[in-house]
Amino acid sequence: MNPSRYDFLVIGSGLAGLAFALRAAEFGRVCVLTKGEVTDSNTSWAQGGIAAAMDEADSWELHEQDTLIAGAGLCDPEAVRFLVQRAPEAIEWLIGHGARFDQNGSDLALGREGGHSRNRIVHHADKTGWEIERTVVAAVRQRGNIEVFQHSFVTQLLMADGRCVGAEAVVGDDNEARTFTARAVMLATGGCGRMYTHTTNPRVATGDGIALASDVGAAVAGMEFMQFHPTTLYHPQMRSFLITEAVRGAGGTLRNHLGRRFLFDYDDRLELAPRDVVARAIEAEMKKHETWCVYLDMTHLRPELIRHEFPTIYERLRSIGLEVEKDWIPVVPAQHYSCGGVATDLAGRTNVPGLYAAGEVASTGVHGANRLASNSLLEALVFATAAAEAAKEEGPVEASPTATATKCISEAESIRLRTSLRHAMTQHAGIVRNFAGLRDAQASIDGLLSEFAKLPNAPFSSHPCETRNLILAASHVVRGALARKENVGLHFNEDLAVV
Ligand SMILES: Cc1cc2nc3c(=O)[nH]c(=O)nc-3n(C[C@H](O)[C@H](O)[C@H](O)COP(=O)(O)OP(=O)(O)OC[C@H]3O[C@@H](n4cnc5c(N)ncnc54)[C@H](O)[C@@H]3O)c2cc1C
Repeated sequence: MNPSRYDFLVIGSGLAGLAFALRAAEFGRVCVLTKGEVTDSNTSWAQGGIAAAMDEADSWELHEQDTLIAGAGLCDPEAVRFLVQRAPEAIEWLIGHGARFDQNGSDLALGREGGHSRNRIVHHADKTGWEIERTVVAAVRQRGNIEVFQHSFVTQLLMADGRCVGAEAVVGDDNEARTFTARAVMLATGGCGRMYTHTTNPRVATGDGIALASDVGAAVAGMEFMQFHPTTLYHPQMRSFLITEAVRGAGGTLRNHLGRRFLFDYDDRLELAPRDVVARAIEAEMKKHETWCVYLDMTHLRPELIRHEFPTIYERLRSIGLEVEKDWIPVVPAQHYSCGGVATDLAGRTNVPGLYAAGEVASTGVHGANRLASNSLLEALVFATAAAEAAKEEGPVEASPTATATKCISEAESIRLRTSLRHAMTQHAGIVRNFAGLRDAQASIDGLLSEFAKLPNAPFSSHPCETRNLILAASHVVRGALARKENVGLHFNEDLAVV
């Protein structure tokens, strides 16, 4: 079948993908391929907000300083400056497209999160991501030259003469394999949290972009810097539900199963210690007592405060029978954000000509060894916009590349392999690592990849493709962790700890 030809091809419909699409549509025809519904994305799930120095008492210099401190010396200073200087105009761009952020009189209401020295979190109650996704989806629907293909799973990137010129996707319910070509391909596939047993990420976060990019020789960097959120709900009916650290900021305390405020044993800052410190303390406490979770206690807080400040959390917990006024909330740390990814320059270019990346799948150098809260939505927007400016310069594509056959296995085998991967990654490449465990994880990954290759071929299904992608992305995490010989930021190897 002849390829469908566009000027720009976008893979993913979160903030990075749709921001790129909207900007690129000023220069040509755009195709967006997304594997679920258009709103299925990490973006839709973001709660806290988006960071920008908007207040008179704030400045991009202070935002820059906070980002560099969080990144623990491993940020690319040029990328950080690029990000923070463009933050206010990024917020204005969203507002211009109809985003409704909370106001304080005629000004934006600006929240504060851990690591920020000023109030600079622009938000929409505790569902900022939902509002941002709503905004960009509505804007895309108004553009006649952006076509969005939902339920279109990208299985491979297509190359011609060393240049990325398109992608193959399996489209719609009848699983039709189609090829799409374009002058520039934007990879905006989001995160890879699903390689861990506990993650805040939705089902689509399966590291597809890392695998697709590696398959065509793109460089991947910093994958060992995996951010874990200390408090996600531990409940069979509602896995992945994040309980924002603002609850601890408002006075919520952490207790073990005996009711003890165990953070007294770990850090003087108690519940307000940085995310990675709290996550490590919880993991250590769970290991010490061989328990599955710890508890977040809000029973001493005013119910009106909880209802007003955290309406989504309040309602969601009530829906599963947990009353925050009376019950302790069972919580576990969970994978939350991947700081590393496909390496790009300031214009989102990867080392593969024609291939761009932005958002969580990319490594722009902004986050270094640890992400400052609420910088990721901002990064997705700023770098996707810059990428569209650069991509408009790409020349036409003459080639009609052909796709290779995609290996698939049965869903039952896929579930088995994915479960093994999650166990290996959670046990050995999670919050606290050591060299022996990481080598075990690498052996498991190698074994899973060779099993995948040997299992009989089966008709296309996205689950097995995602499983392979997760295994490949996990391999980058483990290799990065094995190669790192110092504890820095989010990477903690107990063999390297100074006693
Ligand atoms: C619970 C939660 C809370 C968060 N809170 C905040 C916050 O307050 N502030 C902040 O800055 N950040 C926050 N983050 C992080 C932030 O949401 C993400 O980093 C950001 O939204 C990533 O945007 P993206 O466009 O790169 O990816 P996503 O929004 O995840 O979009 C990826 C898209 O790619 C598609 N896709 C993936 N693979 C394929 C494939 N093979 N074929 C076709 N399509 C594919 C997906 O379906 C999806 O549409 C939070 C994340 C979570 C999970």
